[in-house]
Amino acid sequence: MRLDLEGVAKRFEGVFALENISLSVEAPEFICLLGPSGCGKTTLLRLIAGLTALDEGHIRLDGADLSSTPARDRGFGIVFQAYSLFPNMTVAANVGYGLRIRGVAPAKIAARVAELLDLIQLPHLADRYPWQLSGGQQQRVALARAVAVEPKLLLLDEPLSALDAKVRVELRAEIRALQRRLGILTIMVTHDQEEAMSLADRIVCMQKGRIAQVGTAQELYHRPASRFVADFMGVSNLIDLKTAERHAPALLAGRRSGDGDIACVRPEDVIVGSPGKNARVASVQFLGNISRLMLDWPGGQLIAEQPGETALQPGAEVTVGFAAHKHAWVVNS
Ligand code: ATP
Repeated sequence: MRLDLEGVAKRFEGVFALENISLSVEAPEFICLLGPSGCGKTTLLRLIAGLTALDEGHIRLDGADLSSTPARDRGFGIVFQAYSLFPNMTVAANVGYGLRIRGVAPAKIAARVAELLDLIQLPHLADRYPWQLSGGQQQRVALARAVAVEPKLLLLDEPLSALDAKVRVELRAEIRALQRRLGILTIMVTHDQEEAMSLADRIVCMQKGRIAQVGTAQELYHRPASRFVADFMGVSNLIDLKTAERHAPALLAGRRSGDGDIACVRPEDVIVGSPGKNARVASVQFLGNISRLMLDWPGGQLIAEQPGETALQPGAEVTVGFAAHKHAWVVNS
């Protein structure tokens, strides 16, 4: 199963919500559409689902253009942010709904529902109604209902965002395990960078209705294509060429290129030596597994991270260095 988007664009009241979106994804990939609020993630998901009509471009499934195929005939499974279970049906009836309307024999439906309830670890709740379930359980059931009919493509629109942090992390792992097991091409919208990094085979990072970069979590983190991606994917120190020339020549590693270039140095690659005198600790945040240091450095403020608890206190004089070749140069765009 392969989905191709070619030059897709969507306008609302004359304003582009999406522009020039081209992307190819293939089963069994897990893709996350990631970006800040309003960048067009949900609109793109709705275009793929057929719930919104596109203005330009093509969406093809295994080569066949989907433009004249209505949403209900696309054979996609969809899970939205809001729990959308049928309130008057039990868990089992919700999961079996799609099979029932397709006329599948009751014995087959019962077997499939039992198998899926096992997979989502809720076999004991088959006879409950949605209002008797927690948020996390409702989303598990919504997921089981979406995959019951063996969809060609699974579309997830922030399915975890209404859940508390602990349940979200648990359910992430379950979604990933279920998706791996079933091998369904999956596209999920999220604005949570950590969620995208922990789930996706590839992340589509979006900015103002365009694709800023597509790649693995490692590619986007270590080799961001632009300042926007560097900033959006985790914490970064962005050091321009002139500052590097003056205050951190080792960072340049022979580089002499356009003025717009910026070095992206991750906080774990800022090496804080003590004692010293080229920087001062401005503040320290203890975050449990790491300590985050804000440093006043002649080239500007820097963020450094160290494992565990640091002995450094605000006001301490330190020496700052950078892990060799652990930075990426990005163009200032
Ligand atoms: P969020 O993370 O906040 O849900 P998003 O990345 O999913 O954001 P979209 O919901 O796709 O963003 O919206 C993209 C842009 O299109 C926004 O500027 C939004 O205001 C606009 N938009 C979306 N739907 C409509 C609509 N039906 N009519 C007019 N404008 C719309």
